[in-house]
Amino acid sequence: MQASAALTFAFAAFLLAGLVVKFWLASRQVRFVARHRDQVPAAFAGTVSLAAHQKAADYTVAKSRLGLLETAFAAAVLLAWTLLGGLDALNRALVGWLGTGMLQQLALLACFAVISGLLDLPFSLYQTFVVEERFGFNKMTWKLWFADMVKDTVLGAAIGLPIAALILWLMGAAGPWWWLWAWGVWMGFNLLLLVIYPTFIAPLFNKFQPLEDETLKARVTALMQRCGFAAKGLFVMDGSKRSAHANAYFTGFGAAKRVVFYDTLLAKLSPGEVDAVLAHELGHFKHRHIVKRIVALFALSLVGFALLGWLATRTWFYTGLGVRPNLDGPNDALALLLFMLAVPVFTYFVSPLMAQLSRRHEFEADAFAVSQTSGRDLGNALLKLYEDNASTLTPDPVFVKFYYSHPPASERLARLGAT
Ligand SMILES: [Zn+2]
Repeated sequence: MQASAALTFAFAAFLLAGLVVKFWLASRQVRFVARHRDQVPAAFAGTVSLAAHQKAADYTVAKSRLGLLETAFAAAVLLAWTLLGGLDALNRALVGWLGTGMLQQLALLACFAVISGLLDLPFSLYQTFVVEERFGFNKMTWKLWFADMVKDTVLGAAIGLPIAALILWLMGAAGPWWWLWAWGVWMGFNLLLLVIYPTFIAPLFNKFQPLEDETLKARVTALMQRCGFAAKGLFVMDGSKRSAHANAYFTGFGAAKRVVFYDTLLAKLSPGEVDAVLAHELGHFKHRHIVKRIVALFALSLVGFALLGWLATRTWFYTGLGVRPNLDGPNDALALLLFMLAVPVFTYFVSPLMAQLSRRHEFEADAFAVSQTSGRDLGNALLKLYEDNASTLTPDPVFVKFYYSHPPASERLARLGAT
């Protein structure tokens, strides 16, 4: 009983502290951006118009406000699932209907996923059709949005249910070391996704066409050879179908590796700038950022599964989070859900570390790009992308430290010496 009360207390305290920090950071960001709205920072005075600067400010404020509302709502939902007994009630109802066993556990996971998805819906709709729309970024129609949702749901069920069933089965049948097996399965599944995502899943949502612009292709191929990099193909994706935001990325690994340019990126950047952006992405490969990320994911998952393996056998883990465990059946799905719900509450405070690591990687990739292409081109490309995505040039420094996975434009351009 004591451990149970301690868990309840720690969970509530961390949840509250997280909320306070999130609200504090978001209000800092909104105030800072609003305060600098009327003047383009000196370093950008010649390159960024006041109108573009103000659009970025308004877009940032609108997104932050929506984010705040979402944060408050998500905290209420989390409380409702856990300490207020939502998950417990759902579990009881399903046990009453299906009895205990695999079917009931899968139904619990599926119901949870569907309810969570429905609760998130208003926010994603508002984000796309109100915020993005207002700033001219949204290219999505209702029809496309609906088709996406149907595909997402079918894919989620087709991929998620079998893997969930396999993990639940291991939890019940593989003895006290089940978590090691489950970890192996989970990692194998993640690696498999890296291979099948670019070739089978992404094409369900977008069209990928081989890059046809011969001049650009020659340039890009030469750059890749210079950097000792082989990819299976260069593709152009119809990103403009959904959004005006521009991007380029690498995906897959081994034989499935490919470079994908959004059509929106090619429309906005000169060939030299495209080169520079690609060189930045190659920099991530050269510095092994992707491999490091995968290794970190493997290690963290192992810790997570080991912890789950231990927690799943403690009664206080359930009762402390508002759930009465089943006495005459497995509790594995409950343990999985509670773990997924509770862990982010405690790990939120590590996000500045993760963000800092990511920003360091961005600087390294920028430096690599400068060594292979032109720093001026990279600077121009970054400026165009920041402007096009309406990223504010004047974010709050503390907010940046906490959340930004990419350094703000001012810092990156200053390092490039291009400002
Ligand atoms: Zn990057």
